[in-house]
Amino acid sequence: MTRPPINTVVRKKFTRRDLMKAAPIGAALAGTGALVAGSLSTEAVASTKGTCRFCLMHCGIIGHTRGDRLEKVEGDLTSRTKGFLCEHGFALREMVHSGARLKHPMVRKGDEFHEVSWDEALTEIATRLQAVKAKHGPEALLLQTGWPMVRHPLVNWLHRFARAFGSPNVSTVASLCEASLRMGQALTVGSKYSSDIRRAKTMVLWGSNPGVTAPPFLHVVAKKADGGNLIVIDPVKTGLAREATMWVPVRPGTDGALALGLIRVVLENGWFDRAFMEANTLGLEDLRALASTYTLPEVERLTGVPALDVERIARLMAQEGPTGVWAGLGVEHHENGVQTLRAISSLEVLIGRFDGTQEPRSVLTPPGARFKDEMLPAFYDLVTPEPVPPPVKARALGRDAYPLYEMFNREAQGQLLADAVLRDTPYPIRAVMLLASNALVTSQGTQRLEEAAEKLDLLVTIDPFFTESARRSDVVLPATTFAESPDVDDADNVAAQSLVAPQHEAWPDWKVLVELSKKLGLGEYFPWASMHEASKQKHVRWMHDPQQQPKPSLTVEQPKFATLSGRAEFKSQLLEREGHPGLPVWTPPTEVPTPEFPLRLVTGPRPRAYINSQFHDVPSVNARMRTAEVILHTDVARPLGISSGTRVKVTSPYGSIQLTAVVTNDVQRECAVMAAGFADANPNRLISPDKRDPISGFPAFRSGLCRVEKV
Ligand code: SF4
Repeated sequence: MTRPPINTVVRKKFTRRDLMKAAPIGAALAGTGALVAGSLSTEAVASTKGTCRFCLMHCGIIGHTRGDRLEKVEGDLTSRTKGFLCEHGFALREMVHSGARLKHPMVRKGDEFHEVSWDEALTEIATRLQAVKAKHGPEALLLQTGWPMVRHPLVNWLHRFARAFGSPNVSTVASLCEASLRMGQALTVGSKYSSDIRRAKTMVLWGSNPGVTAPPFLHVVAKKADGGNLIVIDPVKTGLAREATMWVPVRPGTDGALALGLIRVVLENGWFDRAFMEANTLGLEDLRALASTYTLPEVERLTGVPALDVERIARLMAQEGPTGVWAGLGVEHHENGVQTLRAISSLEVLIGRFDGTQEPRSVLTPPGARFKDEMLPAFYDLVTPEPVPPPVKARALGRDAYPLYEMFNREAQGQLLADAVLRDTPYPIRAVMLLASNALVTSQGTQRLEEAAEKLDLLVTIDPFFTESARRSDVVLPATTFAESPDVDDADNVAAQSLVAPQHEAWPDWKVLVELSKKLGLGEYFPWASMHEASKQKHVRWMHDPQQQPKPSLTVEQPKFATLSGRAEFKSQLLEREGHPGLPVWTPPTEVPTPEFPLRLVTGPRPRAYINSQFHDVPSVNARMRTAEVILHTDVARPLGISSGTRVKVTSPYGSIQLTAVVTNDVQRECAVMAAGFADANPNRLISPDKRDPISGFPAFRSGLCRVEKV
């Protein structure tokens, strides 16, 4: 059965309630500040504190509502973020009341979506899920969630729902965001960590752009250039790079070679504490041997970074500390991501990051804290109230291909979804539920995912908006935004109330899971009336497979690091045990530029306007960036007759898309750089569906190839 994108919606008859809602929605679309309905209402304004969940900064927010209308939002001065809200936070009101919101549950019949009641929609899903379970087993269901739910306790409820159904397959945005970084750190020092930005004298932004991804910290980071050192290692001269002490336009995919070159300089100059290294690290001499081949001329040849700059970076990092490194997706999204992050982490160990002279408070999980009873802790504790559903027999998707990913993240590797649907490897997946996820746009291999969507017995999208993925779904359910759901603070306390009442017929994701579980005969595992009530129950820790945690072989009495050896491991015992090189080796991207595809394709950096595929339905945000763009160096663009504003076609070995060129000298010469999240100019159509990091399974979004031509 083919499933062309569907635009036809067969509506229920308008109710009086629908008609009453039409006026304020029109006002919201017109972008007015005080809403018509609200301003005429005599209802009192209520103010509620909550958390902005558009991104991981989780800024404190206050919503002012009149009736069921969110009239205004502002930053919460008493919160951790001290009143800060970026333009996305301020766009919350517009998003909640957007005319593009999904209003009713819908079921596809042929080429049309039909509006149905919640009861009908859930019955349809339950019936089809039971059929999938009977034919392919319960593991044939995968639940996938996206960014808005990262670190949200709902993720534990997804696991609970999946496990009650009998499936180990829950996948989150961790399968392509941040987990490689945390794994690289933990495989080196036993835990994830982040830098104390305020205390650092030298700050290195390595493939990260906090000006866009972490705006509350922008001014703190920018300040490092005054009285300290700000080093930006990035193919693009970002806003922060303009302020920086050094902008280092590294050739994409060669960051590992640069890190090993820096290690060599540090070792050769003796800029490290030998006694500390001998007592607390494993594999120093092996690391020295590995780094010895990365001479300055060789590093310059590989990375494009001048030898003198390499030496200067090493000196600033080693001798003008405390040094903080903020590594980002620019390093993660390659076939060599985890090992490159291990090289960076090894460099941090060498320059004294963990010898007590720098900032131990910045280690999120203090090394050794839970060492005796629990080695190499996973990053996220799964906790849930009794009764806990019985353990699942099947192994999660990706457990065989990327066992370390599953060990650290306790979830399926979602990038393998298309293979499981199309090739039944390692077993068939036939039902997918997407919650706050637009996987068909944001995951690796869009074409293959579209093909997979056609083969599925059931695709469900649960989202506030009618996304690209929703268009190809069998059932579409209107979800609330975070503003319409109970707030969850950083300690995972669930509030009793939301910022604003649910709009239209939208339900919070939690309620969808509870009601669907009842339809599936699994209601005994969801006996609570609200998430707030459930959060008050006594919770227990649980995981799919307790046998999976590695056992330590203690070699020291008082281990400083929660690795297998209890030392910082330049040579990782766990990696070797799993068949990977123990040392942080660098391997070049497997796709090498050719005359046909001469440019290195870098996809995924976030533009200022959007957060991945979020906000594309919000007019005030759309007004800031009307079209997808590709950034090209002047030396590449000019001979092709391309200038800023020219429409261009970008072609890779996998597909082509059209975008608008931005021509500048502020980008590494050999690159074409474009943001992700655009449905009509989706760079995931240009990227290999198979190139992944061998340890984490992360897609190589930034190691592609392409050519560019004028349209
Ligand atoms: S930085 Fe912006 S989008 Fe992120 S949580 Fe804060 S206000 Fe929301």
